[in-house]
Amino acid sequence: MTKITGIEPIPVRIPFDHWAPPPMHAGKPRTAIDTLLVRVTTDAGVVGWGEAYGPMWQATVPTYENWIAPLSIGQDVDDLELTTRLERTLHNFGRAGPSLHAISGLDIALWDIRGKLAGASVSTLLGGRRRDRIEVYASLLHYDGVLDNVRRVTARALQAGYRKIKLHERTAAAVAAAREIMGPDIPMMVDVNCAWSPDEAIAAVTAMAASRLTWIEEPIWPPEDVASLAVLRRATGLATAIGENATGALDFRKMIAANAVDYVQPSAVKIGGLTTLWRICTEAEAAGATCAPHSPYFGPGYLATLHVLAAKPRESAIERFYCDLGMVPFERTVRVEDGVIAVPDGPGLGADPEPELIERYRV
Ligand SMILES: [Mg+2]
Repeated sequence: MTKITGIEPIPVRIPFDHWAPPPMHAGKPRTAIDTLLVRVTTDAGVVGWGEAYGPMWQATVPTYENWIAPLSIGQDVDDLELTTRLERTLHNFGRAGPSLHAISGLDIALWDIRGKLAGASVSTLLGGRRRDRIEVYASLLHYDGVLDNVRRVTARALQAGYRKIKLHERTAAAVAAAREIMGPDIPMMVDVNCAWSPDEAIAAVTAMAASRLTWIEEPIWPPEDVASLAVLRRATGLATAIGENATGALDFRKMIAANAVDYVQPSAVKIGGLTTLWRICTEAEAAGATCAPHSPYFGPGYLATLHVLAAKPRESAIERFYCDLGMVPFERTVRVEDGVIAVPDGPGLGADPEPELIERYRV
């Protein structure tokens, strides 16, 4: 038995440039990607790395210190029920948010440790990889409908080798401008982050549909209104993508049962970690949906998502924020080349965060 001896949450703030004025995120202009790295040590000397949802690390760090660490230190790293028990123990704090984010980061680190102890990659532990290379889609940040910026950055992404692009724009004009630059054949997705009421959504999505979208992502507020999503999906005939704000596997069963979704988007760093991400992917794909995880972050959660995409039944591209970063994590070990990533095959997640990333950008 290998025991957990320490859990250290490490917030890291990497500045980015998306070649336009800062986009708004959670009510503030965003100029950096916040990442919460999680370093888990063991009595075998093996160190595992996880990642929890970054933008609210200020709430998640105390969750580790006050609850996750005291409940987990001394526990067996091979105990597959540990994170489920933590969810039950902490359920009074809510079924999403900092407690579930913290559990997610621990869970990812435990998979990294299990792989390192076994000398096998995480995708091997998940039953074996079905593919070694994963296509990457450029997830453009939002440009507030400014057409010149949308056109310029879309062209830049194509130039960089991406062959699938997602926009975070909310107007039909911005979507049409990007389509014009892409030409007819490049798959395009649009994410509006819950912009519309159910009534507004039908007209807004219909207006964008002429630009031929692969999916419309989170069209309706609130995101859990699956009945309205099902109505929208029927009325517009457009595929929907939802799930980054879900609270667990049961939410995904409900959205699939309601005929509300084509692409399910669990997030490794929010939904309970790799264990829950894998469960949702396999269940959803068995039920006929496609799992296209949320992954606009760059740490161990990103690597965990890559391993799930390598091992799951259906082929899907991985989401990657398209911007310049002060330092690109894993640039030497897990590189994006011409819009494709080779899945790392070293033990565990296959790469540890670089020490200089932490030295330079630790908050
Ligand atoms: Mg999204």
